[in-house]
Amino acid sequence: TFRSRSAFKLLELDAKFRFLRRGQVVVDLGAAPGGWSEAVLSRLSGPAKEETPSLSAKIIAVDLLPIIPIPGVDIIQGDFLSPVTQAKLAALLNADSGSRGLVDVVVSDMCHNISGNRIRDVESSLELCSAAFEFARVHLRGVGAGALVMKHFAHPILDAFRKERLELSFRKVHYSKPQASRGESSEGYWVCVGWKGSSL
Ligand code: SAM
Repeated sequence: TFRSRSAFKLLELDAKFRFLRRGQVVVDLGAAPGGWSEAVLSRLSGPAKEETPSLSAKIIAVDLLPIIPIPGVDIIQGDFLSPVTQAKLAALLNADSGSRGLVDVVVSDMCHNISGNRIRDVESSLELCSAAFEFARVHLRGVGAGALVMKHFAHPILDAFRKERLELSFRKVHYSKPQASRGESSEGYWVCVGWKGSSL
């Protein structure tokens, strides 16, 4: 069982696009109460198959709200848009000699409370998506590997962001609306795979 039904959205996305693997370093943005982190943990520590488990496996969860501890997950409470939180995150990543500050997968379920004012909702979604993308751009590991999964508000402005930023940086940007989120009409997820590298 998971802390949130959102966990099933992430598992559904991973079943479809296969971005989680044992031994990865994963950053979970907008993680409270912790369902996605638990889902990631279950995928990263699943039964060993052919892959050798890596010692550098790591999950870092970030949220404005407190998260009840999850064994195996590092938690940072703070605003992801604030430089203080970003510095804490970078420090945690750098402290681990195995990860050398790099990340395999960034997942973001961040969203603000829908205000009902469409322009504000679109602006906030764009701001959170841009910040997640910027973080991924700086921290994603090698070319080819590396995935960014994020929730976004459905709107032409977000479609432009996908075209102008995401599609230039990733080999493939999938759009998906998991079964588990069918009630929430304005939200969708992007699963960006095949990081092209930070030269752009
Ligand atoms: N994925 C989570 C789970 O499975 O438990 C649910 C996440 S909930 C839909 C969205 C979260 O985004 C909220 O907990 C909210 O506090 C967080 N959030 C929104 N803006 C944020 C920001 N600027 N920095 C950090 N977290 C943020």
